Amino acid sequence: MARKKEEKCSFCGRPKSETTLLVSGLEGQICNFCIDQAKVILEEENVGEFQAPDIKKSVLKPAEIKAFLDRYVIGQDEAKKVLAVAVYNHYKRIAQKYDDNEVEIEKSNIVLVGETGTGKTLLARTIARMLHVPFAIADATVLTEAGYVGEDVESILTRLLQAADYNVAAAEKGIIFIDEIDKIARKSDNPSITRDVSGEGVQQALLKLLEGSEVNVPPQGGRKHPEQKMITVNTKNILFIAGGAFQGIERTIASRLRTNVVGYAFAGINDENVDTEHLLQYIAPGDLKKFGLIPEIVGRLPVLSYLNPLGNDTLRRILIEPKNALTKQFKKLFEMDDIELTFDSKSLDYIVEKSVEFKLGARGLRSIMEAILIDAMFELPSNRRKKKLNVSYDYAVKKLNKASIAKLKAAV
Ligand code: ADP
Repeated sequence: MARKKEEKCSFCGRPKSETTLLVSGLEGQICNFCIDQAKVILEEENVGEFQAPDIKKSVLKPAEIKAFLDRYVIGQDEAKKVLAVAVYNHYKRIAQKYDDNEVEIEKSNIVLVGETGTGKTLLARTIARMLHVPFAIADATVLTEAGYVGEDVESILTRLLQAADYNVAAAEKGIIFIDEIDKIARKSDNPSITRDVSGEGVQQALLKLLEGSEVNVPPQGGRKHPEQKMITVNTKNILFIAGGAFQGIERTIASRLRTNVVGYAFAGINDENVDTEHLLQYIAPGDLKKFGLIPEIVGRLPVLSYLNPLGNDTLRRILIEPKNALTKQFKKLFEMDDIELTFDSKSLDYIVEKSVEFKLGARGLRSIMEAILIDAMFELPSNRRKKKLNVSYDYAVKKLNKASIAKLKAAV
């Protein structure tokens, strides 16, 4: 009987028995040795390094960027538009080839103002996903000035480097989302004479990153590894998106508008057409300064937009519409056990109502959904007969009544 011929690497001819891995392609195989070799060639040729995009050919136009965002983020059209233009301009800036006579396009870092849970992080994350660039989230509240307990601002870049698998060139074109930037506002009415550890000093340190400079970054982060070799990262082309709730800023906006309306007509806004219910739409850089951001920081975040609070309609759409909407995710989970999951329209209304009632916003939708489905997710995989679950209004009420509200709130 003829022996079956042993498979071989189509590149080097090594038999399978002499390799640790043989990957099959359409018309051949490649072994682990040749994969390693190919990787070296790629690195030598700098393939995989960031190439400046050809703006005319490969970059999505602002309307296309917005359309992409629409697939993941519901509503927030104004913020999406502003973000799409800023990202498009950012690309133009990166694509620009410098010579001395050329006009230098300034960086379009962005600040998004809106209540927590309205989609600021989601927008930034979706942009990064679209651009295929490394993305890191930093929480401004944990940042402190060097020498104080907390994290140095450089730790933000450590996170970006980690997201880029330590590919410095890729990290230098990445996106950083700085959450809760409002929490490092200068507390102007702070009577304390001690230094404001979490306020102005951090803003100054952050400024260095926003301005675009060479920063020495500890690759492992933190101060626990004093022996680690620093990596230099240039922040010139990193896009910063800052977000914050800026609680109470409407008052500043209102008083500015009032002064303007009384004093002199301002940008076409007069008493009659000011939408006092949604003041955030009139936000201006000066309001951020009043709130306690230093003028230099405000100047380095030239693109300003706002997010609307989420109403019941939007929350309901969030449950079903986005590409990875919660209902779709849970359906998928059940489907993997061959169980068909469906929701009555009224049960979805109920989930939304409860999220609003408990003041949990969009984040609450997930914890409520989990609470309603936990029993089914536990029991149904071992139940051979039940292959369908319809979440009716009564089912949702019954299951949620069992759940602890405190636990729901803690999960958000
Ligand atoms: P923020 O950064 O404004 O505090 P997030 O972007 O983290 O809020 O939103 C929290 C979660 O709520 C998101 O992961 C997402 O599931 C959901 N969410 C919030 N706003 C929206 C929106 N406009 N469209 C779709 N999902 C949203």
